Amino acid sequence: INILAIESSCDETSAAVIKDGRIYSNFIANQTVHEQYGGVVPELASRAHQENIVPVVDQALKTAGIATSDLTAIAFTQSPGLIGSLLVGSCFAKAMALALNLPLIAVQHMDAHVMANFIEAPTPAFPFLCLTVSGGHTQIVLCKDYLHMEIIGKTLDDAAGEAFDKSAKLLGLPYPGGPLIDKYAQLGNAHRFKFTEPQIPGLDFSFSGLKTGILYFLQENLQKDPLFIEHHLHDICASIQERIVSILLNKLRKAAQETGVRQIGIAGGVSANSGLRKAILAMGAAQGWQVFIPKFEYCTDNAAMIAITAHYKYLAGEFVGLDVVPSPRT
Ligand code: ATP
Ligand code: MG
Ligand code: FE
Repeated sequence: INILAIESSCDETSAAVIKDGRIYSNFIANQTVHEQYGGVVPELASRAHQENIVPVVDQALKTAGIATSDLTAIAFTQSPGLIGSLLVGSCFAKAMALALNLPLIAVQHMDAHVMANFIEAPTPAFPFLCLTVSGGHTQIVLCKDYLHMEIIGKTLDDAAGEAFDKSAKLLGLPYPGGPLIDKYAQLGNAHRFKFTEPQIPGLDFSFSGLKTGILYFLQENLQKDPLFIEHHLHDICASIQERIVSILLNKLRKAAQETGVRQIGIAGGVSANSGLRKAILAMGAAQGWQVFIPKFEYCTDNAAMIAITAHYKYLAGEFVGLDVVPSPRT
């Protein structure tokens, strides 16, 4: 089974080739045009996808040593994401499926983030509990099988990635600020400043209170010291990261206790965060979990995760017609 997979839901254009469940190539074109706007500009993202998609697919096929005539299926991200971005990938995938007379596989982007845990051994056994933390979503997902996932907890407002990015913006850092907070946090004292933890019942999350708390904290301190951020950047970043990570992991521990699941993983862009990676390993050791963390390149948006999901859909015979339509929502 040779599948070409395409991801274009946000601002990464990516293509991957998977042969019999093994990734042979995974190319990602990052769009830098958005930096100057402090966030992804949908209109510019669509255009950049249109520009990148042919070279990216070409590179993925060449690196995998695969001719289009060797392909057995074409897969693409159907939802969720920016509609203009999704349209580029879906139209391209449809055109290839039509031209090569191949079956088409539609993949849900958030399922694919979870499936990043199944790209390389050791892979989780089922049931598997995954904390998916990305730019637009924060979910606790109970996986009964490769293709059966149940969301048992989610954010009521901002996503974890947004909490990182919006905090970074308040600190005057460029977009996306998550990786920068991570970098500066490594040089800081996480217990220097205390941000409050929201009291949300059940397995749901909330990050908007933290954002407001940080805003007031900065306003107050900047009044006393106009250079407060410059003087304390490392400690502020470390303290913010510590709080976001503890909000995430306290709910994950609760979910593990309630479900009794001990195969636990993380996924999504924020799972690249070094504080989260360290903290979940420590919690896993204390709780007796087997912890799974995808490789860095499989955390943020990539087509390899679309490819592994498509592989299992292929085995289950889950194909879609050429009239399939992408959707901005799940
Ligand atoms: P979604 O998957 O919800 O549609 P997305 O695809 O835009 O959203 P991802 O690409 O999975 O999101 O993740 C991007 C997010 O991950 C951004 O918010 C970014 O700041 C955050 N991120 C990436 N690396 C790190 C890091 N090291 N520390 C904290 N956050 C990070
Ligand atoms: Mg992105
Ligand atoms: Fe994503």
